[in-house]
Amino acid sequence: MADRPRFGPAGVPLSFRAMKATLADVPGLLEEEGLDAFEYQAVRWGAKPQIRKEKAEQLGLKAEEHDVWLSLHGSYFINFCGKRETIEASKNRLIACATAAEWMKAHVVVFHPGFYGKRQPEEAFKDCLEAIEGVVETMKTLGISNVKLGPETMGKLSQFGSLDEILGLCEQVEQTQPVIDWAHLHARYRGYFKKAEDFRKVVEDIERRLGTDAVENMHCHFTKVEFTDKGERRHHTMDKLGYGPDFTMFAKVIAEFKLRPVIISESPVPDVDAIKMREILQKRLESQKLFFRVC
Ligand SMILES: [Zn+2]
Repeated sequence: MADRPRFGPAGVPLSFRAMKATLADVPGLLEEEGLDAFEYQAVRWGAKPQIRKEKAEQLGLKAEEHDVWLSLHGSYFINFCGKRETIEASKNRLIACATAAEWMKAHVVVFHPGFYGKRQPEEAFKDCLEAIEGVVETMKTLGISNVKLGPETMGKLSQFGSLDEILGLCEQVEQTQPVIDWAHLHARYRGYFKKAEDFRKVVEDIERRLGTDAVENMHCHFTKVEFTDKGERRHHTMDKLGYGPDFTMFAKVIAEFKLRPVIISESPVPDVDAIKMREILQKRLESQKLFFRVC
């Protein structure tokens, strides 16, 4: 469980790539920026981990050394609401991601559960539930016990992953935790977050259904988003005016509920925006005299 609100980028920031940093350099560079979380991107993986075990372990050691909280974003090629072969292949991909996450000592494997296709939402839910239960069983037999599976709230209406569906899965399957992508919720419900109260409602919903620990230690993604009638279109940087959700409103609710979320930025400049969010929260906590350390 995160000991304080933590912030970090989704993937290796471009500026790190420009200086030819290796994966093992990333935690130290993030620490220099005052960041303390990192979501490794395994989004194009197939049925086998596409990182060597030694390299994954080395990242884990460096993350520990620099106090960086690790998570792993699983393969995009997962659909637990598809045909039987698709579901079986998807399970193998998620297991490959969980295997590498265990090597890295990452806390959670974030994943997109699937697309409704022609299925009714209830039917899609049943399929997802069964598949995820199967993956957790396999993880147990493989001795993967420190990693949680994190189904994510999704931004397009064609995608399985409303807040209710994600919380429903986590209520029923052990070794899971919800991943709250605030941008996706904002897009899915066409501009949902207009005031702090709207964030408060989601926080209370998670607490009511999964308990205080789950809400206090939530794993989330926070980025500004553009959407259409069908939901999410693209992510924007924090500087871009005219797009939501507004992080200052969420910061207010974090302070109010004394949450310790891990907040991953998926913006085009993920580390820069993670720093901005950290500063917004820090100011909010200071103004309320909540001496509760952020980095
Ligand atoms: Zn995602």
